[in-house]
Amino acid sequence: NILADQIAAGEVIERPASIVKELVENSLDAHSHRVDIIVENSGLDSVRVIDDGDGIAAEDVKLAFHRHATSKINSRHDLFKVQTMGFRGEALPSIASVADVTLTTAQAGQEEGAMIHLRGGKELAMKPAGARQGTDIKVTDLFFNTPARLKYLKSPQTELARITDIINRLALANPAVAFSFTHNGRELFRSAGNNNLQQVVAAIYGVQAGRKMLEVKGEDNDFKISGFVSLPELTRASRQYITITINHRYVRNFELTKAIIQGYESKLMVGRYPLAVINIDLDPVLVDVNVHPAKREVRLSKEQQLTKLISKVIRKRIAVENL
Ligand code: ADP
Ligand code: MG
Repeated sequence: NILADQIAAGEVIERPASIVKELVENSLDAHSHRVDIIVENSGLDSVRVIDDGDGIAAEDVKLAFHRHATSKINSRHDLFKVQTMGFRGEALPSIASVADVTLTTAQAGQEEGAMIHLRGGKELAMKPAGARQGTDIKVTDLFFNTPARLKYLKSPQTELARITDIINRLALANPAVAFSFTHNGRELFRSAGNNNLQQVVAAIYGVQAGRKMLEVKGEDNDFKISGFVSLPELTRASRQYITITINHRYVRNFELTKAIIQGYESKLMVGRYPLAVINIDLDPVLVDVNVHPAKREVRLSKEQQLTKLISKVIRKRIAVENL
């Protein structure tokens, strides 16, 4: 149902950065070690994501573009302990309903892979393809059939900034994955994928910032916190430089952000904010990711316990530094 897919796309696919997010999250869900993102003209011309993940079996390729045909949730019970980033089965059909999509994919050990081409939700071609393990998906002509949406896009610089931001966050959340990001033929970002978070911080925010980060660690019965926070002297003018991940997925939560800032209790922090990357490992039953289709806002049980723990861990680490 192309119309239903287009309506869903209105919620999930707002701009080129949403496409990057959905495609890269699919690559991560598929256990990729490498994710290469190639964008032309801020995504207005094309977004391409190449991964070395599990791939899709040839017989399931069409299904991947059917609404709610996710391979990631098998029961209602799964919905309360979502581990993967995608689970609604909406992204691919939504994208295909408002753009031109070519996907080539193969699984390990298959003799051949498959290629499918869709445009405006209609399948134009499907044929066998090479057997390189992983998935290569290219999205062009975004919103060609929904011109009203095109008008809502901001300037190319703003759209590129949003793409860069989402790639940065995903790279920070997944230091064990090697990312590269190329825009108009120029490589803008690369991470090594060697699980060195401080190196990813340095690649994104600069070598100087990388040097001024303190490693933090702490846990209680429910939560395990790890990551890097800046020395109090390295402040920024916005909260934008705080990245929070839960079980290695990038999330937004006002209270947790506040807890990080409060860990500083520093005069240097008046109207200024730290740079921080904090991951919280927890039992998925403690988090509800089902709040919004864009899936970045989360609701937490035991939120107060967690915010106290975060502030405490940071406060202690900074106190050590001031000894
Ligand atoms: P969801 O991620 O919510 O399951 P999507 O529409 O994003 O839904 O993707 C549909 C299905 O296509 C996924 O469940 C997965 O089985 C498959 N898929 C999509 N992208 C990839 C990829 N890069 N590697 C392997 N499988 C993929
Ligand atoms: Mg998905």
